[in-house]
Amino acid sequence: MNEKIQMVDLKNQYLRIKEEIDQSLLSAVAETAYINGPQVKAFIESLKSFNQVQHAVTCGNGTDALQIAMMGLGFKPGDEVIVPAFTYIATVEVIALLGLIPKFIDVRPDTFELDYEQLESKITDKTVGIVPVHLFGQCSNMEAINAIAAKYGISVIEDTAQAMGAEYIYTDGHKQFAGTVGTIGTTSFFPSKNLGCFGDGGALLTNDETLAQRVHIIANHGQRQKYHHESIGVNSRLDTVQAAILNVKINHLHEYARARQAVAAKYDSSLGDIEGISIPVRANYSTHVFNQYTCKIANNRRDAFKAFLQERGVPSMVYYPIPVHLQQAYGQYGYNEGDFPVSEQLCRDVISLPIHTEMKEEIQDYIIEQVKAFFTDEH
Ligand SMILES: *Cc1c(COP(=O)(O)O)cnc(C)c1O
Repeated sequence: MNEKIQMVDLKNQYLRIKEEIDQSLLSAVAETAYINGPQVKAFIESLKSFNQVQHAVTCGNGTDALQIAMMGLGFKPGDEVIVPAFTYIATVEVIALLGLIPKFIDVRPDTFELDYEQLESKITDKTVGIVPVHLFGQCSNMEAINAIAAKYGISVIEDTAQAMGAEYIYTDGHKQFAGTVGTIGTTSFFPSKNLGCFGDGGALLTNDETLAQRVHIIANHGQRQKYHHESIGVNSRLDTVQAAILNVKINHLHEYARARQAVAAKYDSSLGDIEGISIPVRANYSTHVFNQYTCKIANNRRDAFKAFLQERGVPSMVYYPIPVHLQQAYGQYGYNEGDFPVSEQLCRDVISLPIHTEMKEEIQDYIIEQVKAFFTDEH
């Protein structure tokens, strides 16, 4: 391959809509309303209408969004929040930072979501929240989670950082966008997310007006009126220039999802029958927007497979190599190896292949060829 293969191709994604982006960006710069400018307000409207949700609040990044959600819900030090052991660290970090207790739960080996069948056994009289993470771009089983949450009167915070634009499919067939099905949803506009800006950004989505008001105030130093602080807040904002970019890109989000789904479908049909590699499992209760195309490699050959691909110019990533309960920083919570066997095994087996909105046919053919070579040739 002459062309360097990438996990994500932000350059070509930009070039395809360069004129629109440049125009929006330049006018934001020229208007000089750098904080909470009209582009931010316009983006909030677009975000609400895209997700068919009543309230959206923008903030500085997806980690802040999680923290602001938990502050808005009034979680207090010592309260317990149930969170999957197999996730990105941000989900757990904010729980610890707020003095809450992370109660880890194992995940399902097929869809990587928190194991809703174990959920009820994790609930104590201190439990205040559950954080389903819609990992890699597919929704968790929200009906199962919401039913248990309702039974115990606890909140559901959907970590939608990797699943913006995915739809939860109810048993009766109707659909609702990821992040709008629980009590509140949080998301990230980090460049490599499905709706990415050119820096950091985040948002919260909810249909609960009181909660929306509260998180809006918290994100802005706890003030409704300037210099009148009614609660302890944070300074977490989406920049006007990022909003100017997102205003353009949100109009392409459905087409971005279709592009990722087409790449995933081609991987599925090309790799589905190969022994030793398991392609991603599609849940029947969600669409999949493939922020990542994450496979499992059998027989402890994941690292050999990764090295093989790398030698042939094919990048890949391991999301995630260490489960959260075994991370050094979280040792204080007293978990041990063996506590969450599925999460631990996934950390040994998973690998994500290049997937993005700009994948060229011949590049993907080359990737597929190399994957096949590993499993059919002798190593
Ligand atoms: C990216 C991500 C976040 C954090 O988003 P930032 O904008 O980087 O702070 C949180 N949770 C998950 C699952 C993520 O993938």
